[in-house]
Amino acid sequence: MAVVESEAGPSVEKDGAYIIIRAATHAAQRIEASHPLPTRIIVKITTRPQRSDAHISYSNWKIVIDYNSMNIQKGLIDQKALEGLLAHEIMHMAQKLDGTEDKIIQLFSREFKARGFGKEMLSMMVELGMVVKDVFVNDALIQEGFGDALFRHYQIVIQSRLKHMGLPFEELSGKQIKSDFLALVGLFPSYASFYRNGKRQKGELIKSMISWHFSDFPEEISTLLKGIEASLLAVSLTQEGIHAFISEVLGCYSLLSSY
Ligand SMILES: [Zn+2]
Repeated sequence: MAVVESEAGPSVEKDGAYIIIRAATHAAQRIEASHPLPTRIIVKITTRPQRSDAHISYSNWKIVIDYNSMNIQKGLIDQKALEGLLAHEIMHMAQKLDGTEDKIIQLFSREFKARGFGKEMLSMMVELGMVVKDVFVNDALIQEGFGDALFRHYQIVIQSRLKHMGLPFEELSGKQIKSDFLALVGLFPSYASFYRNGKRQKGELIKSMISWHFSDFPEEISTLLKGIEASLLAVSLTQEGIHAFISEVLGCYSLLSSY
């Protein structure tokens, strides 16, 4: 049985840490019923700003979670959203152990070599790999009954993330356009899995939160974005699936480079 242990920084309130560990333990127990998990999962609660709300270190099965981003101190903690976030991270661990993640990495590296990409494409490929990993993690979570928690988690994540991406398209620099584009593709898994698993209404609600922001993208880019979305809705653990997704992203990316 997986044991969830906490590693909280000194400025984290005991109550806040307790809520996080309880949510993690609950998520781990449910996931463990059908997936192998590490015997010991450490949840490190930090008050230093992170790149994201949470990330994982696989070398010691540690989830690092940002206490501030969860708004626990302000009393805005949403138990359901927290469970969605932690279940997502724990499912990443389960898919590391069952080989799903390695399979995705293998398909991406084959594609990387076949296209003759150099170093400059590596970080973008890693980001796209994360997008596909998130789709498979969220698929599994919805199939395991975490759909409501995941939905609540993404409602909160997207609200906070879009705050940083508020400029009209014409005012964006070329560099901003590309980084906003990749950030947008990074948000696709938040709704793709709902569509992929027959939860269309939830998918549409999340998608509507994202798309209002990008409605001012030029028509030709919107069309290419729809192509990326379609390839992700259909993506499977096959070379063809990954190939189609990367092709769609690169097509859009090269058009963006001309702005
Ligand atoms: Zn993830």
